[in-house]
Amino acid sequence: MNRDQIKTVKFGGSSLSDANQFMKVANIIRADESRRYVVPSAPGKRYKDDTKVTDMLYKCNSLAEKGESIDIYFDGIKKRYNEIIKGLGLNDFSLESDFEIIKENIKNKAGSDYAASRGEYLNGKIMAAYIGYEFIDAADVIFFTEDGKFDEEKTNAVLKGVLKTHARAVVPGFYGSKPDGKIKTFSRGGSDITGSIVARACDADIYENWTDVSGFLCADPRIIDDPKPIEVITYRELRELSYMGATVLHEDAIFPVRMVGIPVQIKNTNDPDAPGTLIVHKTDKVDTERVITGIAGKKNFSVITLEQDMMNSAVGFGRKVLEVLEKHGMVFEHLPSGIDTMSIVLSTAQLEGHRDELINELCRAVEPDCIYIEDNLALLAVVGRGMVGERGTAARVFGAIAKAGINLRMIDQGSSELNIIVGVDESELEKAMKAIYEEFVK
Ligand code: ASP
Repeated sequence: MNRDQIKTVKFGGSSLSDANQFMKVANIIRADESRRYVVPSAPGKRYKDDTKVTDMLYKCNSLAEKGESIDIYFDGIKKRYNEIIKGLGLNDFSLESDFEIIKENIKNKAGSDYAASRGEYLNGKIMAAYIGYEFIDAADVIFFTEDGKFDEEKTNAVLKGVLKTHARAVVPGFYGSKPDGKIKTFSRGGSDITGSIVARACDADIYENWTDVSGFLCADPRIIDDPKPIEVITYRELRELSYMGATVLHEDAIFPVRMVGIPVQIKNTNDPDAPGTLIVHKTDKVDTERVITGIAGKKNFSVITLEQDMMNSAVGFGRKVLEVLEKHGMVFEHLPSGIDTMSIVLSTAQLEGHRDELINELCRAVEPDCIYIEDNLALLAVVGRGMVGERGTAARVFGAIAKAGINLRMIDQGSSELNIIVGVDESELEKAMKAIYEEFVK
C-alpha cells in the first residue's frame, strides 16, 4: 500500500455481472488506498449463455426504433440492477427514477449510443454508492467532436480539472458526449479506452485493467495446452501480438497511456493474487530464460505474386502496384520480394469480389510477365524483445518448423528484430505454433 501513488482501476463486465462479483471488486479497491479512480463496465455475462446488459439495451433501442414495446426487455434490465442492489444490501439506494427517465428516453428514440451507454451509467452509480466514492458522469468529462471522433484535447483539459477536485471517484466507461450534449459511445469493449483516458488525466502511476483472465498467455490456449503466462510485455510487442489475434484489451486502449508512458497491469478479479501481465513502455528486465515473449497466428490471408524479368532495375514498379491497391482502399500486411518477384500479402476478405478487376488493373499498371493469387495462407508471428541482437533465433524458428515437416511459404523479419513472421499453409498453422512453442517456451 502506498498513499502517494494513484491508480486508475477499470473493471470489465464479467467482474461486475452480479452482487457477488461487485463484492470481489470492492475488496480489491479497498485493499489498496491508491486505487482512487474506478472505471466500471456494464454488467456482463454471469454464465455462458447469459446476455450482457449492453446487449439488452441495444435490443430495447432496436425495438423502440421499430415502434414496438420495450417493456419486457426493460424489465429484464431493471431486474439485473435491482438484484445487484439488493445483493449488496444497499437498502437506501434506488435507481427507480433513473430507470423511468431512461425508459422514456429510449422509447422516444434517444438513439442506440444513448441506450447502450446506460449500462455503464447505472453500474457506475451502484459502484459509487457501494464503495462510497463520488460519481462523475462520463458525459461531463469525456468528449467527442461533432463528427464523432474522440476529442482528446478537450477531454484532457476538462477531466484533469475535475479529477483534481475529486480525491476518489467512479467514472463509468464506454461513453462521453458530443458538443450538442448527445451521448456517444466508443466501439464495443470501449470501457478499456475510458480507463486509459482517466489514467492519463489523473497522471496515474499505473492503469490496472481487471478482467476474467490472468493477463496474456504466450500462445493461444485453444491450440497450446496450458501456455505460460506473460508477466511483462512492451507496448510494441503487445501491438504485434494483438494485431495477430491475441486480444484481452481493446486495441485503442493502449494509445492514451502509451503516449505518456503509464504502464498497464492486466489482473484477474477472480484470482487477484495472480501476477497478471504488466504492459510497459520499455523494460530493463532481461528475460534471459526466454527469448520470445509470445506467438500468435492468424488465418485467411492471400498472396498476390507478380513476376517480371529485371524487376529489380524497373523504376517505379512497386509504387505503381501499390497505387492500384490504394485505389481500391486495400491494405497489405507484407511485401516479401525477390530479385524479379514482388508478393503482396493481404487478407483474403479484401479480395472477394475484386479478384479479376485487381489482376486486370495490375496487368495494365506494370505489365508483369506473370501474376497469380494464392489463398489459404496463415501468418504466424514470433514476437520478443529478447530476439533483438540474439543470434540463432531465426535458425531455431525455421529448424522447428522444418523438423515438424511443415513447408514455409513466406518469411519476413522486421529490421526491428522484434518479430519473425512466417507464412504457412492454413492447415498447418496449429502444428507450426506447437513446434515453435516446444522449441522456445517448454
Ligand atoms: N459494455 C460495453 C460492451 O459490452 C463496453 C465494455 O464492456 O467495455 O461492449
